[in-house]
Amino acid sequence: SQQIHLASRPAGTPTADNFTLQTIPLPELKEGEILVKNTWMSVDPYMRGRMIDRKSYVPPFQIGEALEGGAIGEVIQSNHPDFPVGSKVSSMLGWRTHYIGDGTGLTRLPETTLPDQSFLGIMGMPGMTAWTGLFRIADLQPSDTVFISAASGAVGSIACQIAKMHGCTVIGSVGSQEKAEYLRSLGVDAVINYKEATNLTEALAEAAPQGIDVYFENVGGEHLEAALNNMNDYGRIAVCGLISQYNATEPQPGPSNLSMLIIKKLKMQGFIVFDHWAHYGEYANQMGQWIAEGKVKWEETVFEGIEQAPRAFIGLFEGKNKGKMLVKL
Ligand code: NDP
Repeated sequence: SQQIHLASRPAGTPTADNFTLQTIPLPELKEGEILVKNTWMSVDPYMRGRMIDRKSYVPPFQIGEALEGGAIGEVIQSNHPDFPVGSKVSSMLGWRTHYIGDGTGLTRLPETTLPDQSFLGIMGMPGMTAWTGLFRIADLQPSDTVFISAASGAVGSIACQIAKMHGCTVIGSVGSQEKAEYLRSLGVDAVINYKEATNLTEALAEAAPQGIDVYFENVGGEHLEAALNNMNDYGRIAVCGLISQYNATEPQPGPSNLSMLIIKKLKMQGFIVFDHWAHYGEYANQMGQWIAEGKVKWEETVFEGIEQAPRAFIGLFEGKNKGKMLVKL
């Protein structure tokens, strides 16, 4: 099995030196075991947090060990009745070409016409995150004006479309003109290119003169300050991610205008999508229906080959992806 190991803990933005490609021989299959060849793996911003040696909602990655993450693979040898050769499985054993398992932690993909890798994106964790943040955290209402940051990414692009289908007015923020055009093609009402805006608070006020009722927070920092300045009374903020701070080497100061929480009587709540997984079936049914009706679209940015996985991961912090960042193995 070829595997990407953590060579060292990144200081600031990760670099290629923080990763090594290792070839590890796999033993013969025992009774009850299967050999899986991964076909797709996911790289996600949260993995940066696991590279830090600290206590969090998942344990840190260890130096000299293979990284982990969402992956889709195919069973190529089987001594397990529930996983015959040819079955497709999703696992948290990404960052490697092959692995041996006994079925623990593996889920067979449902029979669908959807591409396998959609279960790492729109039909998987990022899609579920968008839906959870909007409905279960922000209590989205059709009359809401919603602001979504990192709006062209895996979570953001789905959140934009769900909010539009719900009847909301949607404002997205992205880091390039090309991404802005992509969002407009999805029906987003107004788009801010934050790299060109000299003052994000003013840019947002211009994009949403009626104010913001819901902020879907993926970025933090200046984005949060701009959102707080533009929130309407009793607005809700779903704190999904703070990607602008993941590579910070020093603790980042909080927003300077936190008093807006009081003045505008706002609610702000963070969440971890895995706590809501009991509702995945509800999400998958609804999203499956929207896809079948042609109401949602999704994009992928694909790097090819296990050796490209670190590049794909680092690319998340450089805005290299439109839609879901994936590695095809
Ligand atoms: P994306 O597909 O959105 O990829 C990351 C994007 O973030 C980049 O394409 C880039 O787009 C943008 N970005 C990177 N650095 C910055 C920066 N400094 N300032 C502003 N934007 C930046 O990733 P995901 O959809 O997988 O994740 C989006 C967010 O959701 C992340 O914060 C992630 O941690 C969080 N998340 C949280 C979960 C939870 O359970 N709470 C679950 C899943 C994700 P651009 O070119 O526009 O800058």
